[in-house]
Amino acid sequence: MTVDVVTPRIRGFICTNAHPEGCAAEVARQIAHVRRDPSEWPGGNLLVLGSSAGYGLATRIAGAFGYGMDSVGVFYERPATDARTATAGWYNTVAFTEAAKAAGLEALNLNGDAFSAEVLEAALDAVRRIGPLDYVVYSLAAPARTDPVTGETYRSVLKAVGQPVTMRTADMSTGVLGEITLEPATPEEIAGTVAVMGGADLERWTLALLREGLLAKGARVVAYSYIGPELTWPIYHHGTIGHAKADLERTCRRLDARLQEAVGGHCWVSVNKSMVTQAAAAIPSVPLYISFAYKVMKEHGVHEGTIEQIDRLFRDHLGPGREPRLDAEGRIRIDDLELRDDVQAAIEALWSQATSANVADLADIDEYQLAFRRLFGFDVPGVDYDRPVEIDRPMP
Ligand code: NAD
Repeated sequence: MTVDVVTPRIRGFICTNAHPEGCAAEVARQIAHVRRDPSEWPGGNLLVLGSSAGYGLATRIAGAFGYGMDSVGVFYERPATDARTATAGWYNTVAFTEAAKAAGLEALNLNGDAFSAEVLEAALDAVRRIGPLDYVVYSLAAPARTDPVTGETYRSVLKAVGQPVTMRTADMSTGVLGEITLEPATPEEIAGTVAVMGGADLERWTLALLREGLLAKGARVVAYSYIGPELTWPIYHHGTIGHAKADLERTCRRLDARLQEAVGGHCWVSVNKSMVTQAAAAIPSVPLYISFAYKVMKEHGVHEGTIEQIDRLFRDHLGPGREPRLDAEGRIRIDDLELRDDVQAAIEALWSQATSANVADLADIDEYQLAFRRLFGFDVPGVDYDRPVEIDRPMP
């Protein structure tokens, strides 16, 4: 038992601790957003890779409480020690699992490296317990991957491809604007990023599930991707990470053909909107862009957080009985509202006028910071942050 008053420890774009009750309150808010009466639940089985935070957490919540799906979640998080809190993803998963079990849903968890052979084997066993999967969602965001066959470790880098690029960026804790130059990546760095964030691991999981007969008839496998606005293309879409996402998309097209043939299923990419998450906070320029985008999208009445995005993904495209609308490249686009011409024109106008002196008025830096702190359970309404809390929360 370790009881403590927990206050945020933020260093640059990372927060090194988390508040268990704040995380639980955020999970409860997301559940309330999607919750349907159990009499309306069609049921089903869902596997989420990267289920403890961001888009993957919202996916698990939407599947469970919107549709009554039993789920297996795979994530890489740290429990509490005497000296420090657990990670936010740990507390999120504890809260999700308690709520799912209270609602009569199965929720099995695997904490470990999804790229390893051991975690894949353990996940296959967990899936055997809930039954063949109707949905598999791939939502990992990781800096490195060790190939389970060769033992080689690859690292993902955020660099330009071809030419150096200079981009506007900001210190999001002070709102001071600056510029960052990204050097062009070497061919090895591009290949490393593709090996981590491209399609190889999704293919390994999908083929293993298929081989073991763990994909139900009509199973839908979905991988999350990002394109973003042209403003960030030099750093993202045209950079090393964009190359990895292109590889992920090619892999999905191959797997789609394979799944159609094998189980009458599909593999699709869903392109999601820019979102404050732990992964996005680490990308230069993207947090600044997000603070303009959140402001403009609110003004246009089209702002969405992760749970609103994924709720719409299931309702409009993926949910039982739904057929997705695909773009010309065969992708689901839930970044449609963000990329609307009027929204992008408004963001670009603000972006081009911004200076350190006026950015606080033009962009929603406060909202960005608030959304960032909430990822770790801080500044969540209704939580008493002066009260000591038990930080050691065992996984149910
Ligand atoms: P996130 O940082 O919030 O979550 C990442 C998840 O991956 C966590 O559950 C973490 O535990 C898990 N994870 C990381 N390494 C792991 C490992 N080795 N083994 C097992 N689990 C591991 O990230 P996010 O922003 O929600 O990103 C998820 C996906 O969505 C990514 O593919 C990302 O490119 C995509 N996406 C993100 C955005 C955005 O703006 N945040 C936009 C569009 C698409």
